[in-house]
Amino acid sequence: QSHLHAGWNFDNSYVKLPSSFYTRLDPTPVAAPKLVKLNEALADEMGLETDALHEEEEAAVFAGNCVPEGAAPLAQAYAGHQFGHFTMLGDGRAILLGEQLTPAGERMDIQLKGSGQTPYSRMGDGRAGLGPMLREYIISEAMHALGIPTTRSLAVVTTGESIMRLTEEPGAVLTRVAASHLRVGTFQYAAGLGDNRKLQALADYAIERHDPDCAHAASPYLSLLQRVIARQAKLIAKWQLVGFIHGVMNTDNMTISGETIDYGPCAFMDVYHPETVFSSIDRHGRYAYGNQPKIASWNLTRFAESLLPLIHQDEQEAIRQTEEALTGFGEQFSEHWLTGMRAKLGLFDEEEQDESLIHGLLALMEKYEADFTNTFRAMSLDHTTSTDHDLFQAEEFQKWKQQWEDRLNRQSESREAAQERMRAHNPAVIPRNHRVEEALKAAEEEGDLSVMDKLLNVLAAPYAYSPEQESYTVLPQPSGRPYRTYCGT
Ligand code: AMP
Ligand code: MG
Ligand code: MG
Repeated sequence: QSHLHAGWNFDNSYVKLPSSFYTRLDPTPVAAPKLVKLNEALADEMGLETDALHEEEEAAVFAGNCVPEGAAPLAQAYAGHQFGHFTMLGDGRAILLGEQLTPAGERMDIQLKGSGQTPYSRMGDGRAGLGPMLREYIISEAMHALGIPTTRSLAVVTTGESIMRLTEEPGAVLTRVAASHLRVGTFQYAAGLGDNRKLQALADYAIERHDPDCAHAASPYLSLLQRVIARQAKLIAKWQLVGFIHGVMNTDNMTISGETIDYGPCAFMDVYHPETVFSSIDRHGRYAYGNQPKIASWNLTRFAESLLPLIHQDEQEAIRQTEEALTGFGEQFSEHWLTGMRAKLGLFDEEEQDESLIHGLLALMEKYEADFTNTFRAMSLDHTTSTDHDLFQAEEFQKWKQQWEDRLNRQSESREAAQERMRAHNPAVIPRNHRVEEALKAAEEEGDLSVMDKLLNVLAAPYAYSPEQESYTVLPQPSGRPYRTYCGT
């Protein structure tokens, strides 16, 4: 077949799991596939030929019209707590083509999102819109550049078909790349099957894929739990440190790999406030910025519960061991957060009072409605005296700044070194909502991808502190209306 020269090199380990974990199914073909965005750097890493990927028959692969040789397409089954309520789910609009084996020896899931209905579609049409898929592309790639574990975006194609949402929209398919698509919800689904052999098969699969050394541990499944807890503690701390709000931290949207997944209603916080919510459906603020660590811990508790039968034959002993492991989440999260915050403030060593210094700044940012990213950016550039913001003008801030400067002077590193450390840990640019919207509008309404490409270029080097970034740090004119994101679009 002609697409062979593109470098697809599939393996399909998932189909070796018990068949209740998936449904073998090809993607549903679309009317007129057209490649609108290809991630050449990622393609290259994956051992794919970018020139070949631009050809028509490859757009057909990304659209699901042509299944490459070696792929064994399937929809994965999973369950999940959505806003606290247990639900049977599964890939309702996604198909896993298979796993690309890369030249570096890595195994990466290749999944088409928006590829048609599956047995798990419930009431959904199985499709996705161009705007939301480009939005996922932008934000996931920005997260990657920020150094935050995430699924990646390889390509976006339009389908030549329109879909019905609030209005009629162009249909699109996103090719998502992930270390795996195993979720906490996959384990909840497995536990619900009521067959410990199937649960164990899934756990063994996860261990083989993500933590092969745990297979030799005294208690492999407890070790798996500890690893997932450790990865999530690190991940959520990274989110908090850049002001990322996931928006829909249901247990089906939490990975075993520790990658961020499901860019639906997510957005970056502008003004610092722990209660910040962007998602239109999160009416009670369950997934607000400040709640994310607590919710992660709640989700991990659901993961631990699913694993109980594998951890110890004696249920009380299994509960004791998992509870102990779960206390590790809070401890590890706090440690990562504190370490990250110290770096954001240019600190190299540790002092007892650092936590209160940090909280002092956050309280002032909240009080004076300061932009989270730009506050740290101004401090990294030593621009607080020249920046015209209420926060920096306030006497309270001057007092805080004096404490901070005294603290910097107590460490042996120079002020220049501290400043450099700050610039390495405080992104100058994030995907600001109005710039993302502007890029999507140009793409959707005029078929103009150049606005998005410029944005992606800047987002690819968030710590560069380069002149090209300047205009992307400007805040939007107040619209009088809060920014809102929408789910499942
Ligand atoms: P999410 O809220 O994005 O995590 O999605 C929750 C579930 O809804 C997942 O199982 C998705 O596969 C499914 N889903 C979302 N949108 C659609 C759609 N348009 N058609 C079918 N299933 C969908
Ligand atoms: Mg999801
Ligand atoms: Mg989603």
